[in-house]
Amino acid sequence: MANQKLDTLGDLSRHGLLVLFRCPGCGRESRFEPRDMILTIGLSRTIRDIRGACSWCGRRGVRAEINPHSLKPDRPRTATPDGRGKS
Ligand SMILES: [Zn+2]
Repeated sequence: MANQKLDTLGDLSRHGLLVLFRCPGCGRESRFEPRDMILTIGLSRTIRDIRGACSWCGRRGVRAEINPHSLKPDRPRTATPDGRGKS
């Protein structure tokens, strides 16, 4: 079963996806490598729980989203079963 759970920074990193912040105040979008964010806030942080501040207008509480079109095309989408079976 190819159940692609995409909840945490670790999941995004594994799938080659980026984190997107879209500011509701000024409409600016910024994207971040999940790897960089993992270093500061941790691998298991849920994307929907992440809030940022807009660097353009200073608005706070900007929600993080998964950037849906950031799959790196040169990266084979292999299903790796590890990391799920921790009991
Ligand atoms: Zn803004």
